[in-house]
Amino acid sequence: MIASGSDLKAARKARGLNQTELGKLVGCGRHTVSYWECKPTLKQFGACGAMCRVLGVHVPSRLEMSRHSDTQQEALDRRWQAELQRIRQAEERRKATQRVVCGANTRIGRPCRALSEPGKQRCRFHGGMSTGPKTEAGRRRIGEAQKRRWAAYRERQKTGEV
Ligand SMILES: [Zn+2]
Repeated sequence: MIASGSDLKAARKARGLNQTELGKLVGCGRHTVSYWECKPTLKQFGACGAMCRVLGVHVPSRLEMSRHSDTQQEALDRRWQAELQRIRQAEERRKATQRVVCGANTRIGRPCRALSEPGKQRCRFHGGMSTGPKTEAGRRRIGEAQKRRWAAYRERQKTGEV
């Protein structure tokens, strides 16, 4: 059987990736992913080849078709599975250590310019070290605060402030 764009799409969905996420894994945009998913045949090279490798969709050349036994094919598939896992783990590590600008509102009315704690959105002074409420009372308190915050936001929306 010759792999088609719909096989590529099925393989992507089976791994729970959307087009943007798959694009990121292989360094192309979601439009390129979409383009190849509509194609009746796939290529071994370029962005399409990279997607097929990452997803373990095998695109055989004619030579390969006559040369590879099923066992060899399985070994090849396993290798690409390992590769996919490696790429995913690298992405997880990157996310866990990434630092962004905190941006919390400060008392002088300007957004905080400190870098966040690794893998968090806020700096250490604005909750970046927080692991969230642990007690029932604590969770309730946060819930109430959020409700007040959104009520105030909706009020401002009505008066046209936001
Ligand atoms: Zn901050």
